[in-house]
Amino acid sequence: MDCIFCKIVEGSIPSNKVYENDSVVAFHDIQPAAPVHILIIPKKHIPTMNDAAPEDNELIGDIFAAARHIAKELGIAEDGYRLINNVNSDGGQVVYHLHVHLLGGKKLGSLLA
Ligand code: 5GP
Ligand code: ZN
Repeated sequence: MDCIFCKIVEGSIPSNKVYENDSVVAFHDIQPAAPVHILIIPKKHIPTMNDAAPEDNELIGDIFAAARHIAKELGIAEDGYRLINNVNSDGGQVVYHLHVHLLGGKKLGSLLA
């Protein structure tokens, strides 16, 4: 499958991994938008949150559990951070393999217009 994040899961494209378990992988974003910018992805190819099925609920929980773990490991849990999942065009999704951005390391601006 021609998916950049599947290739990162397989290891055929390199990434700077910070965390991995049976169901998810997390690595540094190639174009960081904050001092800490990690992408957390399921190993399973799910294009967008719209495509996640009820049987993926545990997997989605695993993504958030990984985020919690990584935020603590990277020392940003107390000061705080933001988790973002972009969906489709209006959401600004560019890579169509479900991922959650973990952003932190500075005071982030409001997203609410
Ligand atoms: P989206 O807009 O789809 O939510 O975010 C995709 C993110 O993936 C962007 O922040 C972009 O910088 C990141 N990205 C795209 N290609 C690569 C890559 O090959 N390696 C890494 N580490 N990040 C990537
Ligand atoms: Zn994929």
